[in-house]
Parts: sequence; C-alpha cells; structure tokens
Amino acid sequence: MSSTRRKLIAGNWKMHGSLAVNRELLARLVVGLQGFTGADVAVCVPAPYLAQAIELVRSSSIKLGAQTASEFASGAYTGEIACSMLTDLGCSHVIVGHSERRSLFGETNARVAAKFAAVALAGLTPVACVGETWAEREAGATEAVIAAQLDAYLAVSSEVQLANAVIAYEPVWAIGTGKTATPEEAQAVHAFIRRRIAGRAAGAATEMRIVYGGSVNAANAAKLFACADIDGGLVGGASLKADDFVAICKAAGGNS
Ligand code: PEP
Repeated sequence: MSSTRRKLIAGNWKMHGSLAVNRELLARLVVGLQGFTGADVAVCVPAPYLAQAIELVRSSSIKLGAQTASEFASGAYTGEIACSMLTDLGCSHVIVGHSERRSLFGETNARVAAKFAAVALAGLTPVACVGETWAEREAGATEAVIAAQLDAYLAVSSEVQLANAVIAYEPVWAIGTGKTATPEEAQAVHAFIRRRIAGRAAGAATEMRIVYGGSVNAANAAKLFACADIDGGLVGGASLKADDFVAICKAAGGNS
C-alpha cells in the first residue's frame, strides 16, 4: 500500500547555529529547494533565531518550526515561550516530546501531552515524538512504551487536532548515533502507531503523518520514505548540512 499523504521533512537544528551560520545554511536551502514541490519542508531552529529565520525563508515554501513550547498561555513562567509568541513570529510547527526534552529536562508523558494540547489549540502543528530506548527494545517493550507515550497525546486532542498533527517515531537508540532503524523495523512501529490512533480516531489515523527520525541521511532516506506508513522524516544532524538536507527532501518528493 503506498500512501497518498503528502510527506513532511522537518529539520531539527537542536542547539546549533549562529546568525552567520544560519544565514548561509538557509540561503543554500532556499536555492537548493527552489521549485521543489514534492514534500512539505520545515526547519525547527533555536528560539532566538526564529525571527531571523522567518525573514530568510520568506521567499520560499520552507516552513518554520520551534523545538518546544510552553503549555501555559502567558504569565509568570520565566524562560518559557508561549505558543502565541511562536505564531506571532510566523512558526507553523512545534516539536513536542523530543527524547532529549524527556531525558535531559524531565518532561513526562503528562507534560508533553499538555504541550501538545497547547500547540494544537494555538492552531500550530505539533510534531509529537515517541520512541523507545535500546533497553526497552531489547526487553520487548517497544509497543508498550510507544502506546503509553501516544495515548497521552491522544487523550488531550480532538479528532480534528489529531488529523492536523504529526507523530514522529524516533527510536532513542537511533538519534544522533548513526544507527538507523531498518525500513522494516521502522515500518512495523509506524503501522502499530497508525493502528493505535485508528482505535481512537479512524479518520485522523488515515490522514495524519507519521514521520521517522533517527540518523536519517541522504543515503538511507529513500528506502525509509518508500515504506507505506512512513510519511517523511524528522532530521537532526543531517539538517545542518544543506546538500544533505536538500537530498533528503528530494528523496521524500520522488526527487521532483
Ligand atoms: C533528532 O534530533 O530528532 C534526530 C532524529 O537526530 P539525528 O537525525 O541526528 O539522529
């Protein structure tokens, strides 16, 4: 079964960049993706650079994303960034529940679900991450872990919000390690995710995009994206290299 869902490639720059480096990278992406219509493309840049980035991608179809957002609308939350601020700056996507936020900053399923709800309520597209550690996979707990993470998102969203959301399956053991899930391993988990969403919202399950993240690169992208339930990628390291990121986008768009 090949999917008719439009693919999404989202770059996660993590905590990298500078005004000068961003200027060059985004200029190269704009040129490299000129005329490319084969997939949706977004770059999720560090918050201080969102205002710079939106100006640099304005002439292109590249969309802008943030890497996290507050679950609160406004108030005494020093250091936090409200969804309304991201909307103000021209963002359309927000990564939620990345494994680095979970493991390094203590974000629980409940907390990332609250963020998901705030992002969806603001009309932004959550790119909501799920994924198991290597130990969990070895213990045969992959589906149980992902089900718990997914159910937290499902519990706070309407069917319409779900249909507009993106789930990113990111096995923790594949993030930044150079170790990628095989297309078969990734497809099996993506199919599980779609089935589980279908149990809650059949229409949304068909429409929503489930992207894969974890050491996606120019060499492995096409095979991953050819899988029936893989609707694009969340790309970390390779999104910082213009040629690689452009090649990954083109692999998602059938090289068009
Ligand atoms: C990520 O940070 O979401 C990610 C998938 O990183 P990498 O592509 O470097 O594994």
